[in-house]
Amino acid sequence: MPLERTLVFLKPDALVRRLAGEIISRFEKRGFVIVGMKLTCITEDFARSHYAAHEDKDFFEPLVRYTTSGPSLVMVLEGKDAVRVVRDMLGRTFGGDSPPGSIRGDYALSNRYNLIHGSDSLEAAVVEINRFFNPEELVAHNRENIKWIYDMTGTEIV
Ligand code: UDP
Ligand code: MG
Repeated sequence: MPLERTLVFLKPDALVRRLAGEIISRFEKRGFVIVGMKLTCITEDFARSHYAAHEDKDFFEPLVRYTTSGPSLVMVLEGKDAVRVVRDMLGRTFGGDSPPGSIRGDYALSNRYNLIHGSDSLEAAVVEINRFFNPEELVAHNRENIKWIYDMTGTEIV
C-alpha cells in the first residue's frame, strides 16, 4: 500500500483564532507526517485557481476575499489513505453540519469560515501539492519510525 500525500491549508480564520497548534496536533496524533509546510498569504491568483470549480457560485468572490485576507499555513501530509482520512477529520463543508470530534465540528459554525482546506481526491491532491510546493520543498522522512503507526509485520503497510 503506497502512502498518499494530501494538501491541507489552515485558512486565515484558523490562524487569527490561534488554532494552528491544535489542528496540526490532531494530524500528528492520528499518525500523519508533515512533509511540507509554509506560512504564506495566498495570492488572489492562487485563490482563484484553487477554487476555480466554484467560480460560478454566489460565494466565490467572498471566498476569494476570505482566502486572501491573511496568512494561511499550507501543509503536505503523508500517510495511509491520507486524502480520505484527512477529509473525514475535517468534517463537512459547513461548520454547523460537521459532527463533534471533527475539526470543523469542534471549532466552526460558519458555512464559509470553516478553518481548513483538504484535497478531495488523489488527483486534486497532486494538482494542489504542485500548485503550492516545488518538489525540493518536500522532505523525505526515514520510514523506519512508522512501524508503530502501521502494521508492517508483512511486506505491506497495513
Ligand atoms: N463556501 C462558502 N459558502 C458555501 C459553500 C462553501 O463560503 O455555501 C466556502 C467554504 O469556505 C468552503 C469553500 O467555499 O470550504 C469551498 O467549498 P467546497 O464545497 O469545496 O467545500 P470543502 O471542500 O472545503 O468542504
Ligand atoms: Mg472542496
